[in-house]
Amino acid sequence: MARFTARAHGYGLVDWSADELDAYASRLLRDHVPGRRWVPHRSSSCRECGESWPCPAAAWAGQWSHSVTRTEPRPRF
Ligand SMILES: [Zn+2]
Repeated sequence: MARFTARAHGYGLVDWSADELDAYASRLLRDHVPGRRWVPHRSSSCRECGESWPCPAAAWAGQWSHSVTRTEPRPRF
């Protein structure tokens, strides 16, 4: 598994594999969700970290999971 340097939220620069970053990003996306009374067009805060929504963790994870530069195609089973 090729490792590369990426910027992970909360960790700074890391040399994780893409799969590890994927796992970390999906964990952040699962945990960092808007507070339960989220209303569109009104500010809300993250249930996990309390930052205003979208919080930096969710923003980072969303950006990672939509990132386009994947060096290897994902295996299909
Ligand atoms: Zn958060």
